[in-house]
Amino acid sequence: VLIAQNLYFQFGNQIVLRDVSLEVFPGEVLAIVGESGSGKSTLLNLLYGNLTPSQGIVQAISTTGLQPLSALSQQTLRQLQRSRWGYVCQNPRDALRMTISASGNIIERRMAMGLRHYGTLRQEARHWLEKVEIDPARLDDLPETFSGGMLQRLQIARTLISQPALLYLDEPTSGLDVSVQAALLDLLRKLVSKEQMAVLLVTHDLAVARLLAQRIAVMRHGEIIEAGLADQVLDDPQHPYTQLLVSSVL
Ligand code: ATP
Ligand code: MG
Repeated sequence: VLIAQNLYFQFGNQIVLRDVSLEVFPGEVLAIVGESGSGKSTLLNLLYGNLTPSQGIVQAISTTGLQPLSALSQQTLRQLQRSRWGYVCQNPRDALRMTISASGNIIERRMAMGLRHYGTLRQEARHWLEKVEIDPARLDDLPETFSGGMLQRLQIARTLISQPALLYLDEPTSGLDVSVQAALLDLLRKLVSKEQMAVLLVTHDLAVARLLAQRIAVMRHGEIIEAGLADQVLDDPQHPYTQLLVSSVL
């Protein structure tokens, strides 16, 4: 669903990404792991089309087949992001509108995709709240009254209602208490296996990667230094840095 080739990116004269290539296949979860500042979020933004690489190419499947993002108009890119992709960021407050109800947040996303009938929309909002294991009785409550874990669930419901073929997750659990993280990870695992979408997961947490991903790419200082099947990378890391990462958590 996505192919990135030889991406470079710089902020000012700091090179943040160096010769990054990767592919995301339909239905798979690819985790990008690495320490803070290694360039994970920047890479995700390039792959989503929010940033443009200084060199290299990102190609994605759109309605007209495989296309470089750079060849799409702003409007076509937005359309692709809305209709085929979903983006869940670390802090749900950045994505949600805190002054409208939970259902309003979900419905708004659905309306952007063309559905208009209010009763049906409410029904769908209820359905998605149930899917992310939020009590549908909270449908009309403001997100402000939700806990951090619930806010993240709401952001996920809002994102998944468009049934994306590719879901981008940037540290979806890292702002939360450990027990809340565990429950959310469990939910994500269920949703990912049920909804048949590809997932690009960014995390600094190897345990999260192990739980969700089939493949792992390890980033360090803006480069992918090792990539492969999750079990292989975590149980038999080849690169000294990956060995260090793995041994420091176990
Ligand atoms: P974290 O785990 O802390 O989220 P990350 O791996 O996601 O880190 P990035 O946020 O992609 O890392 O940042 C990579 C590098 O780019 C860092 O050195 C950071 O300081 C720099 N950087 C990120 N955003 C900007 C920006 N808007 N302007 C200038 N430099 C930036
Ligand atoms: Mg980041």
